[in-house]
Amino acid sequence: MGRFSVVVVGGGVSGLAAAWELSGGAEGPNESTPRVEIVEASERFGGSLATTSFAGRTIDLGADGFLARRPEAVTLVGELGLRDQLEAINASGASLWARGALHDLPGGLVLGVPTDLREILRFKGVTWRARLAARRDVHFPKRLRLDNDATIGEIVRTKLGDELSSRLIEPMIGGIQAGRIDELSARSVFPALLDAAKRGGSLMKALRTAGPVNPGPRADGGSSGPTFYTLTSGVGSLPGELARQLRERGVVLRRSVAVTALRRTPAGSYPWEVDTLNTTTPANAVILATPAPVAAALLGSLDPAINRLSQIESASAAMVTFALARKEITLTPSGTGILVPLQTSWAGDGSMMITAVTLLDRKWPHLEREDDVVLRAHVGRSDDTRWMEMSDEALTKRVGEELAVLLPLFGAPSETLVQRWPRGLPQYRLGHEELVNEARTASAKVAVALAGNAYDGVGVPASIGSGRGAALQVLDAARTSTGDCRPHR
Ligand SMILES: Cc1cc2nc3c(=O)[nH]c(=O)nc-3n(C[C@H](O)[C@H](O)[C@H](O)COP(=O)(O)OP(=O)(O)OC[C@H]3O[C@@H](n4cnc5c(N)ncnc54)[C@H](O)[C@@H]3O)c2cc1C
Repeated sequence: MGRFSVVVVGGGVSGLAAAWELSGGAEGPNESTPRVEIVEASERFGGSLATTSFAGRTIDLGADGFLARRPEAVTLVGELGLRDQLEAINASGASLWARGALHDLPGGLVLGVPTDLREILRFKGVTWRARLAARRDVHFPKRLRLDNDATIGEIVRTKLGDELSSRLIEPMIGGIQAGRIDELSARSVFPALLDAAKRGGSLMKALRTAGPVNPGPRADGGSSGPTFYTLTSGVGSLPGELARQLRERGVVLRRSVAVTALRRTPAGSYPWEVDTLNTTTPANAVILATPAPVAAALLGSLDPAINRLSQIESASAAMVTFALARKEITLTPSGTGILVPLQTSWAGDGSMMITAVTLLDRKWPHLEREDDVVLRAHVGRSDDTRWMEMSDEALTKRVGEELAVLLPLFGAPSETLVQRWPRGLPQYRLGHEELVNEARTASAKVAVALAGNAYDGVGVPASIGSGRGAALQVLDAARTSTGDCRPHR
């Protein structure tokens, strides 16, 4: 048999990270490194990660930062030799638009869920009913019987009431996921919340001991290290650098070509043939680093468990970025942005479409300039697709009108940009973990590994970890079955 051959389908960050691991990871290739080919359907690598020039800066069009607490992204950045480009987030805290005004988010939040009663008691963004619900959770907690899983909404609405859930928790968790807390699985999205709820008693007290707590606007911010990092060249520059170094390692990188079919060839020396419109690549193993429905379409006929990956839906979202002269805008006094609860009414048509605002140049020092500011507004949720019907011009106008409500002064922008991300954010609903585990077990039997943000977490670090994990799975299986190919760790 020839050299062990792996095809990676999908050139987003998870597919690129898989190829990085397959080609030797931190140590680089050696004599047992497999032949690796990565096939990307679009004309560029990176998927949901990309940068562009805007208002004299390089800005991210998708993810602009990643969690520091998870090691995968920081480790990869180090292995690529980009550590000097790591930049820590410059501000902490954010504001919440509630009851017609901006309020500093209270301290002690864990992913939006309060853990400090005193902070909630003095938080003006909620009514006395919400404060009473928080007090009750500490002193007379409600009972909640939980089995294997529950939605985040079921847990927090039962324990903390509707107001804290809708005004504080939904904008934070629902905003990150572009989904609804009443649909998202606690087990898959926020396991610490499920564990805390299972312990019984006060949810706030139980969660307080569970993990990192947002220090809030009044904290000095010094001791526990940065919560988020970016790259000064943009998070979206990571795929380009990965692609460049992979090419140097001898990985075959193909773009503007979609994989159209995976065919099993039991009689041949390679168990798989990977088809594009014009080519066929023989492979010992395949890593599917595409959105889950694409994986289902390519492999689902083999096993119903793999076919069920088509049930993983993704929410679409858009971001509208503005540059304004400093004198044209009044920003919040502190914090990295503003959260806007769902169904927030205003003088315009329907509820507000903005779910969050990111003050890009306050968040990241390298984007700061003396004369102007850059901020971006996020729109779109799993159940709010109004923006999809609008032209870029209409969307920019509408978002600008909403910003003029949220901020005391919002003048004429000097530059604007609309970036749409259709089906960019997978929704981890009830049963997600079982669905993924069953699909993984079925695909592993035929030497296919699944990677990407539909499986192990939606963020950049999780996607990198997912890709590298899929590569290790393939290398381990190869070593076990043939002894031809040694894993690199
Ligand atoms: C608007 C938005 C904001 C975000 N913000 C953050 C953030 O601030 N921090 C953070 O950590 N994360 C953030 N994320 C999440 C993060 O960007 C993604 O989880 C991550 O980039 C996903 O990478 P991936 O490789 O798994 O998937 P993708 O990037 O979706 O890559 C999949 C690739 O597969 C390709 N493909 C599909 N079908 C085929 C085929 N048949 N053949 C070949 N190729 C195919 C696609 O073209 C695509 O390039 C954000 C995501 C979005 C959408």
